[in-house]
Amino acid sequence: MSDIIHLLTDSVANQIAAGEVIQRPASVLKELVENSIDAGATFIQIVMKDAGRTLIQVVDNGKGMSETDARMAFERHATSKIKNADDLFSLRTMGFRGEALASIAAVAQVELRTRRVDDELGILVEIAGTRVFKQETVQCDLGTSFQVKNLFFNVPARRRFLKSDNVEKSHILNEFYRIALVNSNVAFSLFDGDEEIFQLPASNNKIRIENIFGKNSKKKWQQQLLTIETSTNLVTLTGYVGKPEFAQKSGSQYFFVNGRFMRHPYFHKAVLLAYNQMIQASESPNYFIYLEVDPQTIDVNIHPTKTEIKFENEQAIWSILSASIKEALGKFNIVPSIDFDQEGSFDMPVGNSPENVRPPQSNFNPNYNPFGTTSYKRPVLDWEELYGDFEKKDAPIESSPTWQPKFGSSINSSNTSNGHQQLIEDMEIRAGNFQYKKRYIFTGIKSGLLMIDQHRAHTRILFDLFLCQMENSRGMTQQVLFPEVLELNADDALFFEQIIPDLNQVGFEFESLGNYSFSVKGVSSTLGTSSVIDLLLDILDKAKTTATTLSTGLHESISLALAESSSLKAGQHLTNEEMTDLIDRLFACSNHNFTPDGKKIMTIFTQEEFEKRF
Ligand code: ADP
Ligand code: MG
Repeated sequence: MSDIIHLLTDSVANQIAAGEVIQRPASVLKELVENSIDAGATFIQIVMKDAGRTLIQVVDNGKGMSETDARMAFERHATSKIKNADDLFSLRTMGFRGEALASIAAVAQVELRTRRVDDELGILVEIAGTRVFKQETVQCDLGTSFQVKNLFFNVPARRRFLKSDNVEKSHILNEFYRIALVNSNVAFSLFDGDEEIFQLPASNNKIRIENIFGKNSKKKWQQQLLTIETSTNLVTLTGYVGKPEFAQKSGSQYFFVNGRFMRHPYFHKAVLLAYNQMIQASESPNYFIYLEVDPQTIDVNIHPTKTEIKFENEQAIWSILSASIKEALGKFNIVPSIDFDQEGSFDMPVGNSPENVRPPQSNFNPNYNPFGTTSYKRPVLDWEELYGDFEKKDAPIESSPTWQPKFGSSINSSNTSNGHQQLIEDMEIRAGNFQYKKRYIFTGIKSGLLMIDQHRAHTRILFDLFLCQMENSRGMTQQVLFPEVLELNADDALFFEQIIPDLNQVGFEFESLGNYSFSVKGVSSTLGTSSVIDLLLDILDKAKTTATTLSTGLHESISLALAESSSLKAGQHLTNEEMTDLIDRLFACSNHNFTPDGKKIMTIFTQEEFEKRF
């Protein structure tokens, strides 16, 4: 038999590599703009068309390329930025892999024009699907212009995988912010077709933040930013944190190290802790924090799309960061304000004994699924049947993609006892429900008014579901077409490996790639479609914290982490039907009074309490 192994052609190899580096139009923008920064540009113009699907153009006034370099730039592992492995530890450039242009040229039609300051004529290179179609001298401006057209023209599966224009544009904007915020000395303009979205003059970091985020409310941004500035021999910290009263549901949060955007869940926690008691649990502060460290003390040699960075002196920097933020908040006399909305401040007594309430007899659509998961069919049951059935069988739940109101879980299953049933029977929902401050649900019951914290209620519901799946059955998996990669440090990877079997039970599927990396092949179909990597990092973080601080088992910790990450948040509007369904599911839970970590879910204002007021 003849031999069967052969080398892949460049175009195939590049296309495979492109799968890693170029996932969407935003990745093209990131790579091209980073190259312009590395080329010393002081002005960068970006144009996108059709959310970058048909065109992303990046024009810079950087140092340009020679004829040979212009052609070489598209080769894989061709870079001017490092020569040997040691250079990785003194890195001052954004790029160093020499992969981006080869990847882009493998999956798009690219036109490059470039001229160096001393050259009279520039070079034009046209390349598509790794094939060079044209290379000639042309008249062109100083600097470099890349036009990337018809991204994924030769990879239909990838093209189909792209999301709506709005989603792709928001990815593009996010990449743009990450670069523009830390390169405030560079002027940028960004066009969507003919429309100019940003025109950012060269300035400083504070003005850049205001120019990007304060477009319509400049005054507020000027008022809200508190300066942090600390210099030690380990790290120089500069930047801004928002005053607590400007915290939002999803704040603008940016860390940069040595001119590079990074995610750092551990440092993020340091920031949040500094705001302890000053903001609601559902809100997060704005921050823009720039770290400068000796390049030798960080490892940026990470996955091309990864934004985590490993620090040698992580703990010390954590403390310095935490102290600087506290100082900034303290200096400006930021005193914690207690108000009605603050998490935990509304912990009223659960109220009267269960005898005073009746089971809900609400009209709800049994097939309605408020939480976005597909093909949810709620079993048609009434309350008595539901609990009667449960008590008779105590059966493990069947494998189901979504909620099944039966529990085989060990925790608190004895709570669905007579007292609980009594509560259900004693309730009667007469009127509809209403939502207060998009956070609490009020519903009329015979003996008064029942008030439910929607986030906590949903956390309890999902917790029971995940725990049940982990212990008794298997949650459904949604396969991921293009798996994302979760990269961890050694410690986290070890912890993560411990929880993989449990995550498998709720529907996640992973493949270990070695080097502390895991490819996410499938996700629990109970989860929404938000970034799975962020979610996993969040789960990891929460599972780690809860595993060490609570006296619960690992299953409970993971279920809680999953539930908290995926549950409805305060601030989410609910329709009457959704509220009814939530209440309905809550009362099918093992313990509907408290969240798994002991927070009160509901309270009752009795009729007598109301009457006393008149
Ligand atoms: P890397 O940035 O990792 O070196 P790329 O594939 O992104 O790899 O780019 C390859 C090379 O092309 C760079 O090292 C640089 O020398 C050159 N290059 C790319 N873009 C520009 C640009 N806008 N101006 C000048 N040179 C560039
Ligand atoms: Mg590059």
